[in-house]
Amino acid sequence: MSKFDRYAFSAQPSFDEAATRKAFSHAVPLRTLVIYCYDPRAAEIPSAVARLFRDEVFPGAIILDGSGKKVASSTTIFPIIVAGGRAIDALRSITVAQHLFGIQNIVIVHHSYCGATTFTADGIIDAYEHEHHRDISNLYQRSSICISDYEASLKHDTALIRAHDGTPSHVNIFGYFYDIDTGALIEVARDVLGE
Ligand SMILES: [Zn+2]
Repeated sequence: MSKFDRYAFSAQPSFDEAATRKAFSHAVPLRTLVIYCYDPRAAEIPSAVARLFRDEVFPGAIILDGSGKKVASSTTIFPIIVAGGRAIDALRSITVAQHLFGIQNIVIVHHSYCGATTFTADGIIDAYEHEHHRDISNLYQRSSICISDYEASLKHDTALIRAHDGTPSHVNIFGYFYDIDTGALIEVARDVLGE
């Protein structure tokens, strides 16, 4: 018994996994995952995607039950915020989002003047060896570590997500370049079924 058990659905004596999943799926009308960088200058990206996709809602509102507990939300977008917006860090979150809520779109966004363009795979591997005495050369695919060419990184990440077993086959995948100064989104990659 942990002192936090009462906050975990699966720790309840009456836990019914299928019924809990069904109830959870109604709590948020999630449609779209937006993967982008943790750079504070990129924080407006999910709002920009919501405007571009028109019928999306972000950040939406938290919905309270009769006793004031936060039980749901009206958002249709979940942000996945990772270094450089590289898809490799988003794969598990895609799998879980599909399982809990079901998704229709995955939008990858890489932004202008990103920190991920300030270093190379060799540079970070060498630095770790010298500064931390750790060999990270086999920790990540080299093509997923930094960004040296935005078109290449967006196309790579679109293909990576499509090839991932946790990505349901009905999902549309988009890759956008985002200008942090103008807020403009430019489509670079698109993998939409039926197109
Ligand atoms: Zn960035």
